[in-house]
Amino acid sequence: MSSGMVSSPPDTPGAPSGTEPRIELVGVRKVFGDARHSVVAVESADLSIADGELFAILGPSGSGKSTVLRMIAGFEEPTAGTIRLGGLDVTSVPARKRDVNTVFQEYALFPHLTVAQNVEYGLRVKGVPKAERRRRTADALDMVRLTDQAPRRPAQLSGGQRQRVALARALVGRPRVLLLDEPLGALDLKLREQMQVELKAIQREVGITFVIVTHDQDEALTLCDRLAVFNAGRIEQVGAARDVYDRPANRFVADFVGTSNVLEGADAETVFGRSGTLAVRPERISVQHNNTPAAPGYRAVDATVTEIIYAGPLTRVAARTATGVSLAANVLTATAGLPSDLAHGSAITLTWPESAVHHLDG
Ligand code: ADP
Ligand code: MG
Repeated sequence: MSSGMVSSPPDTPGAPSGTEPRIELVGVRKVFGDARHSVVAVESADLSIADGELFAILGPSGSGKSTVLRMIAGFEEPTAGTIRLGGLDVTSVPARKRDVNTVFQEYALFPHLTVAQNVEYGLRVKGVPKAERRRRTADALDMVRLTDQAPRRPAQLSGGQRQRVALARALVGRPRVLLLDEPLGALDLKLREQMQVELKAIQREVGITFVIVTHDQDEALTLCDRLAVFNAGRIEQVGAARDVYDRPANRFVADFVGTSNVLEGADAETVFGRSGTLAVRPERISVQHNNTPAAPGYRAVDATVTEIIYAGPLTRVAARTATGVSLAANVLTATAGLPSDLAHGSAITLTWPESAVHHLDG
């Protein structure tokens, strides 16, 4: 089957409605291979995604993101565990009987069909009458702002336009859930950022559940309401984008979702005045003149600048404390009060609110 095919809604008499999570994974595990050589792609995933959510699955390459998505779609069967859609156990239900559609990174458009025909294709296969097909295709093209491209062929479109055709083709069948596997991966940065905003707007408009796989933390934070952070087949943390960023559960999340100064042992003691594994985001640290005293609720540590990088609106400052601990601070270049003579070797004071320091599980 080609990607973006429109699946039929399952026959679900007496289906539970409303309050059930749209997607639920309980103890889902996936092992590929045989007894002699096996790969554990997903260790054990528990996840609950509400109706209408824009949910991101974020993690590095090989962490099991696509496998999870393919199990939700029904292209792979879990080795163990249960998958429910709208409260119904679909663990063994084939993909075409799930009310779910998928947009893959390689859009797999039909090259010989026009944009409109590509979008209409799934409805045609399902036997939707012509007039309704035309109307729904026009609606879908309008939603992704491709009405004027309807008669063209995929080869005549830009990458961003092809991506929108794939999206229209997946939405035209009106699935309850849309799964997107690295949907913007083929686009350059500018276009990707533009499409992130558009995708979010389209999701708000159609109101269905979107699950987006990405390895790009900025993309996940920009797009989603909530996210799950994957690492080596495990879910490290699930939560609202802001919460995961502000309160990463462990060292992996702190480093993968943004960057963080993570210290433990004697380094944590000298810099934070506390023990444990502790972290502070570089943007929470400000750079002051040397010997600036700590304000109430703040920590102040003297340090020497080891590197300065002017990155447009942000200036990245690396510094080493008297006890030999390296810290990174990101300050707004336009910040008033930034020492103007800041250079390699400058003596400075780094300050941050005590409340910006958080404890990691390890
Ligand atoms: P991601 O999408 O996060 O990059 P995947 O879910 O594609 O990760 O893969 C997770 C792990 O499972 C990887 O080690 C990958 O090599 C392995 N894997 C994925 N699909 C298969 C398959 N069909 N057969 C064997 N191994 C697979
Ligand atoms: Mg993948």
